[in-house]
Amino acid sequence: MDGLNYLTYQEPIDSIAEQRKAIMQQPKFRRLSTLPLINVPCPFCSLLCDDLVIHNRAGQLRVEKHGCPKAIAEFERPPTICAPRIRGSDATMEDAVAHIASMLRAAKRPLYSGLGTDVAGMRAVLPLAERTGGVLDHMHGEGIMRHTLALQDSGWMSTTLTEIKNRADLLIFVGTDVIHDYPRFFERVVWNQHSLFGPKPERREIVYLGRQLNTAPGRSPKGRNPLHIDCDIRQLAQIIALIRTLLKGNSIKARRVAGVPTSVLWTLAERMKNARYGVLIWSPASLDFPHADIVIQVLCNLVTDLNNFTRFSGLSLGGNDGSVTATNVCTWQSGYPLRTSFGRGYPEYDPWRYSTDRLLAHRAVDVLIWISSFSARIPPVVPKIPIVVLAVPHLKLRQEPEVFIPVATPGVDHDGQLFRCDGVVALSVRRLRNSPLPSVAKIVAAIYESL
Ligand code: SF4
Repeated sequence: MDGLNYLTYQEPIDSIAEQRKAIMQQPKFRRLSTLPLINVPCPFCSLLCDDLVIHNRAGQLRVEKHGCPKAIAEFERPPTICAPRIRGSDATMEDAVAHIASMLRAAKRPLYSGLGTDVAGMRAVLPLAERTGGVLDHMHGEGIMRHTLALQDSGWMSTTLTEIKNRADLLIFVGTDVIHDYPRFFERVVWNQHSLFGPKPERREIVYLGRQLNTAPGRSPKGRNPLHIDCDIRQLAQIIALIRTLLKGNSIKARRVAGVPTSVLWTLAERMKNARYGVLIWSPASLDFPHADIVIQVLCNLVTDLNNFTRFSGLSLGGNDGSVTATNVCTWQSGYPLRTSFGRGYPEYDPWRYSTDRLLAHRAVDVLIWISSFSARIPPVVPKIPIVVLAVPHLKLRQEPEVFIPVATPGVDHDGQLFRCDGVVALSVRRLRNSPLPSVAKIVAAIYESL
């Protein structure tokens, strides 16, 4: 279902002739027509739904089908155009680029953060960071770090959205309801109409572990409620450890662990053992407490244990704003994931030392280059550290940066590629309207040329 089949997603295309026909119907070939654009991929969260129907009326986009509230708000935002600014005054693009280049020439250690961009944008940032001895981190760097630490320490057995859609019969959401960050997750992946190998999707069993979660989307189309085990996510490691103990056949004297009755966890352990294809799903961004990477590691170990009984996988949901894309590109270009510095002339990875907050708090960098081409995320402000912002034009800044350049959004204003939240599938996103705004890749390449 991955790769070329993203064109249709629900129904795989069989023959080459049908593939050609489907490709000719893609937005790329129809974007300037008055017809609605079909099968449009959405770049506004890393679920990358690719079934939206969007109308372009003189540059104003309207989502006609399959848009969640987030997608509708972003796609239907009236196009905004503004000039680049230097210290708050309008400037030409050439002057803004030249000013950034002069700042970078004088800088000892620039920080490239935010990094909300597509594959081409990130590919342009890497050489610039290398040449200027810069440090790379993402706006969702904390979540990325938890994910990466667990992966590098013990590895994991993970699955994809497509596998879940086609095989899973038991889904356990750990510390996340998913729906907040990925609004159409249940519609697209859990309660989908067709499944190639698994049981009928409406028979899937849903379990939530955590507190204050929105469990309503976990109710099946036939009205079966999910099981919600209410617990403090800071005590997840104890709960998971107990389930692992029960799986090994050990008896437990305690009646409750982390406030949860042992009998409930024993029932859950049995259900896990008897699943045909179970999946543990977590979001590193939601596990926001000290040493949460250890919880992720314990979850990975639980998945390994369960494979002694049945087929079980984990799914660590990558974050939004191009964070999976930025991590993947950094890894394949430099050999290291994010939170890597080129300050010594070679890539040096350190997930603690090279965090944006830490570097700024210790004034260990002298320029911040902030990139945000999907959402209006503002950069952290630290006195005496000049900031360059390459971001969407509607960004409302608390403080005027040294230089601001408005940039285009991939999947709206220009074509691009993005990685999905499961980290393994890259999708092409399309230009939906004519826009005078430059891409991040173009601006960063121009800065590099001006150095
Ligand atoms: S769930 Fe995410 S990718 Fe899908 S339409 Fe909503 S914002 Fe876009």
